[in-house]
Amino acid sequence: DFIHDMSTDDGEETVEQTLRPNTLQQYIGQADLKQRLQVYIEAAQQRSEPLDHTLLYGPPGLGKTTLAMVVANEMGVGLRTTSGPAIEKSGDLLALLNELTPGDVLFIDEIHRLPKQVEEMLYSAMEDFYVDIIAGEGPTAHPIHFPLPPFTLIGATTRAGMLSQPLRDRFGIVEHMAYYTHDELSQIIKRSSDVFNIEISGEGAFELARRSRGTPRIANRLLRRVRDFSTVKGQKVINDEMVNFSLQLLKIDSMGLDEVDHKILQTMITFYQGGPVGVNTIAANIGEEVDTIESVYEPYLLQIGFLQRTPRGRVVTLAAYQHLNLPVPDTKQ
Ligand code: ADP
Repeated sequence: DFIHDMSTDDGEETVEQTLRPNTLQQYIGQADLKQRLQVYIEAAQQRSEPLDHTLLYGPPGLGKTTLAMVVANEMGVGLRTTSGPAIEKSGDLLALLNELTPGDVLFIDEIHRLPKQVEEMLYSAMEDFYVDIIAGEGPTAHPIHFPLPPFTLIGATTRAGMLSQPLRDRFGIVEHMAYYTHDELSQIIKRSSDVFNIEISGEGAFELARRSRGTPRIANRLLRRVRDFSTVKGQKVINDEMVNFSLQLLKIDSMGLDEVDHKILQTMITFYQGGPVGVNTIAANIGEEVDTIESVYEPYLLQIGFLQRTPRGRVVTLAAYQHLNLPVPDTKQ
C-alpha cells in the first residue's frame, strides 16, 4: 500500500538522493542526537581515530541512511553502504571490509538480518580490526589471519531488540531515532519543495506535516503526490485545501492514518472489544506481517496514544475510539 511500502524503487531512490542533507547543520530535527554526534565526531577527529561503531534504530524513513552519509561527510571519510540481507557469505563481508580506506564508514542497513556466520565474523572485525578465516578443507584446513583497515560501522535497524546481544555490545554509540515534530517536518517539506521547485504555502506545508506520521520519507512522498493533484487541477501554489483534497483521495485521515491503521484499530475493536490482543492475532486477522506491524504501524499508533502496550497485549485507547467516532465501551469511560 501507499504509505507503508517502505521499499524504494529506482526512481524514488534518485529523488531521495537529491533530497538528502549533506551536513549535520542541514540535517533537520533529532537535535539531541545531533548534538552528541557532533561531540563524538570532533573528539574522534582530534584523536585521528575513526568514529566509534554506531547503531541507529527506529522506524523506517526517519533518516538513518541519511545520517550515516552525513557522518561520513563530516568525518571527511568515504562511505560504503550495504544491507544485512545483501551480505550472504562471510567472503562477501571480507571483500567489503578489505576494500575500505582507513577511517571509512561502512553502513549496514537492516543489520538484524545478517546471516549468523557473517555476524560472527563481524565481532573481531569491529573489536580489533581483523578476521580469521579458515582456508582449505579437511586435514589441510588452516586459519588465515586477515588484518583490516580501521573503520566505523554504522548499523541501522528498525528495532534494537532484534539484534543479538553480542552484536549490540560491540557498538560504542547506540542511538534511537525519534519521530519528527510537525514543525521539523514542515521545514523538511519546505526544503524539499525548494529542491523540486514546488510552491507550497506555510499552512499547506504544516497540514502535510501533520499527516506524515512524523516521518520525512512519508512527508516527501506525499508532497510529490499532492503536487500531482495540484498540477492536474492547474493550481500553482499548494495550500492546505489542496493538501486536504489530495490526502482525502489517498485515504489518509486527519491524523495521517491510512486504511491499514484503520483496519488494525477496527479489528481490535470489533472482534476483541478493544483488546488486549496479541500482535500475532492482529497480524493474522488483517493479513499483514507481524514484523511490519511491530516496526511500522504500531510504533506510530503508540506514539500518538491510540494504542497502549500491556503485558497481555495491545489495547485501543479512548482517544482512538473518539478519533474513529465509535461508541466508547463502558470499561473505557
Ligand atoms: P531510513 O534510512 O531511516 O529509512 P532515510 O535516511 O532513507 O531513512 O530517509 C528517507 C528520506 O527522508 C531521505 O531521502 C531524506 O530526503 C529524508 N530525510 C530523512 N531525514 C531527514 C532530515 N533529518 N532532514 C531532511 N530530510 C531528511
